[in-house]
Amino acid sequence: MKQILVIAEIFKGRIRPVTWELVAGARKIAAILSQTRNIPGKHLPCIQIIVPSDNPKPLAEKISEQTGNAVIGLQIPGFKTYTSDIYIDCLGQLIREMTPTHILAAHTSQGRDFAPGLALELNAASISGINHIRFDETGLFYSRPVLDNTKNMLVRPDPDRPVMLTLMPGVFKPDSHKKGKTKQVDILKISFGSDACENSRIQPTKILKRPCENQALKGAKIIVAAGRGVEKKENLELISRFADCFSSSAVGASRPLVDMGWIGYEHQVGITGTIVAPEVYIACGISGSSQHIAGMKDTKCVISINKNPTAPIFRHSDICITADVLEFIHAFLTLPDPV
Ligand SMILES: Cc1cc2nc3c(=O)[nH]c(=O)nc-3n(C[C@H](O)[C@H](O)[C@H](O)COP(=O)(O)OP(=O)(O)OC[C@H]3O[C@@H](n4cnc5c(N)ncnc54)[C@H](O)[C@@H]3O)c2cc1C
Repeated sequence: MKQILVIAEIFKGRIRPVTWELVAGARKIAAILSQTRNIPGKHLPCIQIIVPSDNPKPLAEKISEQTGNAVIGLQIPGFKTYTSDIYIDCLGQLIREMTPTHILAAHTSQGRDFAPGLALELNAASISGINHIRFDETGLFYSRPVLDNTKNMLVRPDPDRPVMLTLMPGVFKPDSHKKGKTKQVDILKISFGSDACENSRIQPTKILKRPCENQALKGAKIIVAAGRGVEKKENLELISRFADCFSSSAVGASRPLVDMGWIGYEHQVGITGTIVAPEVYIACGISGSSQHIAGMKDTKCVISINKNPTAPIFRHSDICITADVLEFIHAFLTLPDPV
């Protein structure tokens, strides 16, 4: 039977929540395959979740309970800290014995690190950073961002070989966590010498903390966030003045502004910045990349100001203002006080 494999994201012995998104992505692929190939129910591709760990049993049982899918706990003796070397070796050994059509991992620092190498090991196709799964009469194809996230490219893999996919976090909504029927949990011990981890070509040394999340941003009810559309660093003063018009507010920013040194990392909203969920998020000159949206998608009301009426951020906004953001804020700041 054809299998869709999901590689659970485990870090420091814990299941990372993106694992539930991968399961949702796998279910979407299974549903499309059964629809397009007209596969009767009992021949539906089966979803199996692989949990690599030195002690996978408790994690595998939890995942099975949470998802109702079959889980394989891949026991890697002596495994303490993730490295791509170990993952590629151990997952390669396991998956070579299986017949997957699709292998799913998260497009996180971990998934991005091992997925292409694992694809190579398995002679599979590899598509990374998927933000949309599509299909037509000839089968499945995928959309992934290109050209610095300004466009999406549609990619169709060779249907006759397995494909390794990394799914962008924040795109596939996890199914509600109903504790379902626990399915089969198998624990497989990989043949891997107990000193193999020590002899791995990559030795993790230390994990350093990144600058901490911005508590001001986390606690703010209103966030005014600046993007590349503010055009120059000096215009951030205008954004601050705009934010000051609201109580319990803070200034956020998209990543390019941080990368260009215009504003500190503690202001960055997004998948590699702070994840926020304020009452109101005012996006000023932000295009709406999936990495930015992942950081503010739980906002109650999103207001976007963008001069491009087709900017993707408008698809995630409750109020869309098509305007030059600098002109808009100038006009707002000079409005007479209400009498
Ligand atoms: C692994 C990875 C992680 C990432 N993590 C993050 C993250 O955590 N957070 C994040 O933000 N990004 C992140 N990015 C970057 C992300 O892909 C985008 O490049 C970034 O979000 C785009 O920022 P932007 O919207 O400010 O700029 P752009 O995409 O350049 O958009 C600028 C927008 O401003 C509009 N505009 C221009 N001039 C004006 C004007 N005068 N008035 C009004 N509108 C105007 C334009 O129409 C455009 O829509 C990540 C990328 C990768 C690969």
